[in-house]
Amino acid sequence: MEQINVDLTHQHGLMQARTRTEIRSMLRHSGLRPTRQRMALAEILFGKGNRHISAENLHEEAMVQRVPVSLATVYNTLHQFTDAGLLREVAVDGSKTYFDTNVSDHHHFFVEDDNTVLDIEDDRMDVNHLPAAPEGYEISRVDVVVRLRRIARG
Ligand SMILES: [Zn+2]
Repeated sequence: MEQINVDLTHQHGLMQARTRTEIRSMLRHSGLRPTRQRMALAEILFGKGNRHISAENLHEEAMVQRVPVSLATVYNTLHQFTDAGLLREVAVDGSKTYFDTNVSDHHHFFVEDDNTVLDIEDDRMDVNHLPAAPEGYEISRVDVVVRLRRIARG
């Protein structure tokens, strides 16, 4: 008999763009007042489907769209959204942090040539043989970043 595997946890790649109304209620449901600045930034973040974006890039996009907001406010807002569970932080190395609109459990590719972060959609990605957590701790999450570089053509 043919077996059909439908794994709902793998639908994360399908998140569609959200409308302004959806974004407003999303903020409210997360306990965040939909101020003008939050709304403007949330629309850039969530208005185009899933994305991975740094604070600097979000700030640049806000400038292009003439949203008057400082980089410090962008940082604060991103951290508020993260604390509210709307975003997930992806640390690629010490200095580079990306914010992911896809908060489901998944791993990432990092393209070193152009500093982009991509979701790993391959379900065969598997983390086996995790170490035992030290006494008094439990593993809360495993984040894997698989680094990519372009194959040199010679
Ligand atoms: Zn992601």
